[in-house]
Amino acid sequence: MSYEDTLRYLTGATRIMGVGARIERLLMLPSRQLKVEIAIEMDDGSVGVYEGFRIQHNGARGPFKGGLRFHQEVDQDEVNALASLMSWKTAVVGIPFGGAKGGVQVDPHELSVRELERLTRKFTDQIHNFIGPDLDIPAPDVNTGGEHMAWIMDQYSKYHGYSPGVVTGKPIELSGSQGRVAATGRGVALCALWALADLGIDIGQVRFAVQGLGNVGSWASRILGQHGAKLVAVGDHGGYIENADGFDIDGLIKHVEQNPNRSVAGFAGSDVSDFEAFFASDVDLLIPAALGGVIDEKVAESIRARLIVEGANGPTKPDAHQHLVERDVVIIPDILANAGGVTCSYFEWVQNTQRFYWSEEEVNGRLEPILRNAYDEVTTIARAKKLDHRTAAFIMAVREVGKATALRGL
Ligand code: NAD
Repeated sequence: MSYEDTLRYLTGATRIMGVGARIERLLMLPSRQLKVEIAIEMDDGSVGVYEGFRIQHNGARGPFKGGLRFHQEVDQDEVNALASLMSWKTAVVGIPFGGAKGGVQVDPHELSVRELERLTRKFTDQIHNFIGPDLDIPAPDVNTGGEHMAWIMDQYSKYHGYSPGVVTGKPIELSGSQGRVAATGRGVALCALWALADLGIDIGQVRFAVQGLGNVGSWASRILGQHGAKLVAVGDHGGYIENADGFDIDGLIKHVEQNPNRSVAGFAGSDVSDFEAFFASDVDLLIPAALGGVIDEKVAESIRARLIVEGANGPTKPDAHQHLVERDVVIIPDILANAGGVTCSYFEWVQNTQRFYWSEEEVNGRLEPILRNAYDEVTTIARAKKLDHRTAAFIMAVREVGKATALRGL
């Protein structure tokens, strides 16, 4: 996903709304772009140097908020694109945060746990003055999780005093929130259930495919499976597999967790597939839940699903989006579909601020109505203006961020 791609989605909405060049320009520009060189001592005594980024896009509606990704393909342009998506996402679900994103260009599978800890702590040393509970709050993303958040919180607290609210997605024992680990996948599953109902498709008959059985993909699959849908195709960095009768979802997730390569590949009783065959699977629902930019025009032409729910950030490129919309494929966009994660992160931040913690039932009970309101509002705009859900979601987001930006002024 490139920054240019997100700008195309943004301007698709601003032109329909007629917001004018002044506000459009303010909404496009990232507020701050930090780039750091992170030098660490490797286990063998050599020096490893990695590029790290933290990009704060728009903070008009509250402190900046967004994940931190460790991946070999991270670059400034991609982090810029992802930071901008966070500004729109927080606005769609109406939580009082702006948008940011971070990333380190590293293949974390090549580092030991101690090296990863040194990398995370050194990165925190370099950006600690630019993050904070009321300034910018990182969270987990691809290849980062609770452990990384614990290291950031600990390192940040050495400079600023005990500060659990500096990151979200922390382990429960370290002031994390119940329900946070499952929240993004839960939101993806809920959006899928609502959109399937709108399309008149019975969940008991649904066959679905998921790319990426990591945090988001595994929880979305588990919840959809509990509602009676059949997972028939999956794939990830290690390969693609299918099972026309439907996978044993819990068994497959266990296989990924126990396998040193953390991949679905080699799961007993499955047929080997590939990237092209995966996207062309005969399914009702497709959930991309891995990396951005995977659905280009060529892939879009092969897609047979009637519904795509974007667990990943930026999985669909603008030309592919256009092609799919013209074919009446419904796409529930990332800024709505995967907003359950940041919504629950907001709950975690509120609990950290209040030093008062909620039960899992309370968290899930507050999550669903927020997502449902956002889903209903996006759907209402889409129907009223005869637009696709992505453009409708961008219109809703631009309305909110635009108003806040204009009110705060230059
Ligand atoms: P994760 O690290 O838990 O899982 C990532 C998945 O992507 C893994 O299954 C991995 O095998 C797969 N993958 C990596 N490289 C791949 C490749 N080249 N081809 C195919 N698959 C590949 O990460 P996650 O937290 O589940 O995030 C997945 C997506 O969801 C990302 O786009 C992320 O930005 C987005 N997202 C995550 C959250 C969250 O709360 N974790 C919130 C919103 C959006």
